[in-house]
Amino acid sequence: MSTYKSKLLYIAGWDRSGSTILDQILGQLEGFFTVGELAAIWDRGPDCLCGCGSILKNCGIWNRIFTEAFGVGPDRFDFHAARRDRPCWARFRHLWLLANPPLRRLFQRSLEPHLELTQKLYQAVSRVTGARVIVDSSKRPTHAYLLQLSGIGVPYIVHLVRDPRGCAYSYQIRKPHPDPGIRRMPTMHPAKSSLQWIGSNLAFRVLWGDSCERYMLVRYEDFITQPRDTVRRILEFVGEPAHPLSFLSSNSVFLQPLHGVFGNPSRFHTGEVQLKLDERWKSQMKERDKFVVTALTSPWLSTYGYPLHANGIAPTGVEVQNAGNQQDRRCEPLL
Ligand SMILES: [Zn+2]
Repeated sequence: MSTYKSKLLYIAGWDRSGSTILDQILGQLEGFFTVGELAAIWDRGPDCLCGCGSILKNCGIWNRIFTEAFGVGPDRFDFHAARRDRPCWARFRHLWLLANPPLRRLFQRSLEPHLELTQKLYQAVSRVTGARVIVDSSKRPTHAYLLQLSGIGVPYIVHLVRDPRGCAYSYQIRKPHPDPGIRRMPTMHPAKSSLQWIGSNLAFRVLWGDSCERYMLVRYEDFITQPRDTVRRILEFVGEPAHPLSFLSSNSVFLQPLHGVFGNPSRFHTGEVQLKLDERWKSQMKERDKFVVTALTSPWLSTYGYPLHANGIAPTGVEVQNAGNQQDRRCEPLL
C-alpha cells in the first residue's frame, strides 16, 4: 500500500510552453516543493545541476531523498541499472500500450521494477520535504501515466498550452545549456515541434481531459498576463488555501532558489524576474515556418482559443478547462 501523502501537481503539455516559470512560481508557495522535470533524472544521473546551483550528488536535500528512498546518496546510486529497468516502450509512441490494460498486462513484469523505483523516489520526496504539494514539470504524458500506475495516486494535471507557433519558434533559437556535458539547448524543426505539440496535448485531453476531475487547462498567454489569477485558480484546483502571493505581482515575481533537477535554464533565475509575454514568433519567425505550423495544427487551434492567422488576436481567458458534467468526472478509467 502506498505511503505517499503529498498531492502531486503535474505540469503537463508540450515543451517551451512556460512550464519552468510556472513551476518556479508554484515552488515559492509555502508547503510546495518542486522537483523540476524529474522524469529526466535517470538519464541525467548524479552530475546534473540542481536548481540550487549544486551538482545533484552534492545537494543536501537530494542526498537525503535518495538515502531515504534507496539507502544511498546519488553518488552511489546505480543510475545505469535504473535506465536499464526503464522499459523502452515507456516512450511517447508507446503510450497507447500503457493506456490499454490488456496489452499492458503483457509487459507487467518488465514494467514493475520501474514503477517500484518511481514510487520509492516520490514517496521519499514526500517524506523528506514534508511538502503538502509536490510539483513535477516533466510534462510528458507517458511519465504522468507511469506515476499514476506506480500507486502514488492520480496526479493533479495542470495542462499548460501555448500557441504552437510560439513553441516552434522557441525551438529554433540556439542557446547554451547550463548542465555539464550539454553544450546547448536542443533545437527542432517547426514541423516536428508541431506534431509533438499535437500529440502531447491530444494525449492529455483524451486520457485525462474532461473525464477526469483532476484536470485543469491553463493557457500560457493567460498565465503570463494574469499570473496571480492563474495561481489562485491552481490553488483552488488542488484544494489548497489561498496564499498571500506577496512575491508575485501582475508583471514580475521574486524567486528564491529551488531544487528542480532538470528543465529550462531559466530555472536558475532568482531575485526579481519580469513576466513578459513572449510573442517574438509573430515578428521574427519566417513566414514559411509560420505557415507549416499553422497548417499542421489548424484543426486544434480553435480548441485552445488561438487564431488561425498568425497575427490575429487570441482571446484571453478562454473557458475550456474542466468542461463537462462535474458529477460524472472521474479518473478511474485510466487504471
Ligand atoms: Zn539542490
